[in-house]
Amino acid sequence: MKCERCGKDFGDVEVEVCDECGYNFEEGKRIKKALNEHPEHSVSKEKATDLIDYPILSFILGILGLVVPFAIFSIIAIILGKKEAKERLKPFANLGFVFGIIGIAVSSVVIITIIISLF
Ligand SMILES: [Zn+2]
Repeated sequence: MKCERCGKDFGDVEVEVCDECGYNFEEGKRIKKALNEHPEHSVSKEKATDLIDYPILSFILGILGLVVPFAIFSIIAIILGKKEAKERLKPFANLGFVFGIIGIAVSSVVIITIIISLF
């Protein structure tokens, strides 16, 4: 969480009062509620970007792993493809996962071919 008055970042730690400027978070929430705003808006927004990024990233890395026979892209694509994702972006994550597996297969074939051609 971040102090809304001075901007001090507390990371994942939940604090009641900012030790930098003395801002009271509980009071701030109450005031915001009274003003009919959403106190958690900025936090959920940050999380939402993660949920969008992972499926897209998985998808891109999955394709990259197919084009470039380099297993690391495929492995990352598989890991990211298994992460929590927004419902409407799940097809991307699933494609990234599948591309990742195909990419590893392709990489293995390429590596084996290179090794065989060396002898
Ligand atoms: Zn502060």
